[in-house]
Amino acid sequence: MNCISLNNGKHFYCGDHNLIVNKELIEPLFELGKWKKKEIKKVNISETTLADKVKSLNHLSFEVTQDCPLNCTYCVYGGSYDFHRTPSRKKMALSTGIKGLDYLMGVIGDREKNRLVALSFYGGEPMANFQLIREIVLYSKKYTKDWEIKYFMTTNLTILTDEMIDFLIENKFKMTISLDGPKEIHDKQRVFHNGLGSHDIVMKNLERIKNANEMFYLEKISFNCVFSRDKSLIDVYEFYAKNELVRENNVRLSSVDPRDSHYYEDIIVDSKRLKEEHSKVLERICQKTAASDKLLPIDQCMLSRFHLVEELLSLRHLTNLAGSCLFDGKLYLDVDGNFHVCEKINNRFSYGNVNEGFEFNKMGKMVKDFTAIIDEKCSDCIFNRLCARCFICFAKEGVFKFDEEFCLERKKTMKANLENYVMLKSRGVF
Ligand code: SF4
Ligand code: SF4
Repeated sequence: MNCISLNNGKHFYCGDHNLIVNKELIEPLFELGKWKKKEIKKVNISETTLADKVKSLNHLSFEVTQDCPLNCTYCVYGGSYDFHRTPSRKKMALSTGIKGLDYLMGVIGDREKNRLVALSFYGGEPMANFQLIREIVLYSKKYTKDWEIKYFMTTNLTILTDEMIDFLIENKFKMTISLDGPKEIHDKQRVFHNGLGSHDIVMKNLERIKNANEMFYLEKISFNCVFSRDKSLIDVYEFYAKNELVRENNVRLSSVDPRDSHYYEDIIVDSKRLKEEHSKVLERICQKTAASDKLLPIDQCMLSRFHLVEELLSLRHLTNLAGSCLFDGKLYLDVDGNFHVCEKINNRFSYGNVNEGFEFNKMGKMVKDFTAIIDEKCSDCIFNRLCARCFICFAKEGVFKFDEEFCLERKKTMKANLENYVMLKSRGVF
């Protein structure tokens, strides 16, 4: 039995079966051979399969500019990440954006079902090339007779005119605003090039959008909060639970990515303190649930990783492609007109461009190289069926390489997630 004990042996997680079971039940049931191992299917991808796959693409993300008024301490483009680009002021040309959109629409044009396409705008700071966004949105209207098109943007909200607000509202943009919590935390991380913090301007601009259209504000604005492990999780939680301007809007917490980065080199992390803070936050959520109090978006955000655990536990079959996209969802277009799998992967894995189109041999190689690593390194791992690793986890200098540190961290996190999931379930939160 490939099992580990959780919460001091009260429960076990069985890797081969992808199940959490009670201690009393486990031995007799396994002896009776009640459960079958959950299969890991091997993905077999040919260039023809990939040419079919891309017809299901439904999301084009434009790197409209690499320019940004901020110089965030953890920015992957700030120079402290080994394989990502360094700061630049390059902007996408309109002809590149239009060719990218036309190319996508040409690839998916015959599709009969699911005629919904998302266009998202990304940077640097996308608002630093607002004129291009406006032109692409206007141009995309030529497709709206046959397609439903939705618009998205991720922004630091430091550049905002009244004209921009009107345009965003008129085109029902779904906006993700980067906001790292209270001023004391945000202003240490999200700074302008002169070192000054950006919290005041972000909050002021949020007010302006809310005043312009409260319904739009509630429905279309969400937040991305980047968490650095030396900061207080409780302070971030309190901010999102109490601040009137943010407490009703969806929020997502993401962590500063430690891989291939010098970010944490000069930072002292107190893991014990962090674990205690996390337990305190979960305890508050348990108490709210017990009292039948409404959970806020920040509570849901804190529970999201456990929803993912639940979802992964319920999967019957997994593939050795794990959590990676298969070129059938999102497509990322960089300022120079090159296609990539998403905005998070470093720029050494492009598989085509707006002039020559997709290079299916490169896509096939990505899948082959990535799954070879998974087959070699992950087959015997107890967490194989729960670990949603994807291309970006092993993307180095143009090749995929297994990352031992990532793996070790992942194992610790998954055990903790399973233990907290069991605890939350026993307290009625799930
Ligand atoms: S706003 Fe985004 S792109 Fe700009 S410095 Fe911060 S993390 Fe980097
Ligand atoms: S990356 Fe590590 S933790 Fe994840 S399945 Fe592979 S060996 Fe296990």
